[in-house]
Amino acid sequence: MIIILFGAPGVGKGTQAVILAEKLGVAHLSTGDAFRAAIKNQTPVGQMAQEYVASGKLVPDEIVAKIVEEAMTNETFANGCILDGFPRTRTQAEALEQMLTAKGADITTVVNIAVDDDTIIARLLQRGRSDDREDIIRHRLNVYNDETAPLLDFYGQKSLLTTIDGIGDVEDVNARILSAIKA
Ligand code: AMP
Repeated sequence: MIIILFGAPGVGKGTQAVILAEKLGVAHLSTGDAFRAAIKNQTPVGQMAQEYVASGKLVPDEIVAKIVEEAMTNETFANGCILDGFPRTRTQAEALEQMLTAKGADITTVVNIAVDDDTIIARLLQRGRSDDREDIIRHRLNVYNDETAPLLDFYGQKSLLTTIDGIGDVEDVNARILSAIKA
């Protein structure tokens, strides 16, 4: 089972991915978390990624591919995984297809969590991570609209996409995601 949680920064992908991974008994891969850990530990990937993450730019696709491939070889991914924050570009989506084809796996579904920009900005300012400054948040939303949102069409054309309302209680949103997965 390979589930992609899709949506702009701040729609709740991370929160929902943790709950889903627990409920479904599969692994969770957040590329953002992976980069933050690599930066904290100052690994070679972390050193390459840090300027991008700090300024809200996308980390280059080759570096993202490295971190994803490394995670996917981990045996906890054998039952499948919840992908959170990946793929974010067309190149990444194509790289994911190749990785999955090599494993004989398929994307089960892509769940797009929809939240309006004002709510996103309010939520992120409250979260207060170091890249949650208003100017950086606005930049991340622009990057999402320019580079990531076009994947909605890419997955829509493959009939893999369901959009759910991301406003409301965490448990209510989770129930919507679960019913999208089971549909
Ligand atoms: P996130 O935790 O998903 O909000 O990601 C935080 C930051 O990590 C992003 O603003 C990017 O700089 C970087 N990042 C995470 N995932 C990706 C990805 N799939 N492609 C490029 N950059 C990423």
